Amino acid sequence: MEDLGSPAAGLARVNAIHPPRCCVKRRHRVLSFRLTQVLTRHGCFSKYLHQIVGREATPACHTCGEPSVTARHTLEDCIAWGPQRCALVAVIGEILSLQSVVRSILSSDRYWSAVTSFCEEVMALKEAAERQREADVHANPLRRRRPGGRRRRYTLLHPSQ
Ligand SMILES: [Zn+2]
Repeated sequence: MEDLGSPAAGLARVNAIHPPRCCVKRRHRVLSFRLTQVLTRHGCFSKYLHQIVGREATPACHTCGEPSVTARHTLEDCIAWGPQRCALVAVIGEILSLQSVVRSILSSDRYWSAVTSFCEEVMALKEAAERQREADVHANPLRRRRPGGRRRRYTLLHPSQ
């Protein structure tokens, strides 16, 4: 077994097991369902829905035509989320990337709140658009709504969300 206290242990490996002290101290910061989706890249993103869930015929963006929609595209590039992106950049003061978002949420409550608000608003709009596409009777059968329980299970586990 590797000694995580030794200088040879990788910083990433140590941090994966022992989160930075700032994460542990700030217990009032709660990972919302939608913030978690963006950070884990598992959510209402066409690439994920196409490759992992099998509910999208292609990984392409429904708004701008980007060939592969990921959390990164949603956060950094997609024209659909320009106003929300500008509002968040105005608060955190740097160009958005997954790395800058993680750095920001770890550095201040205000940034955590701003990033959470961005994720809540954008992901809620993406989910609403997804539900509309699912309800379309002419849609590809892959898109038909399934009685999913992931959100429901998450809400049961985290009732304050
Ligand atoms: Zn797009």
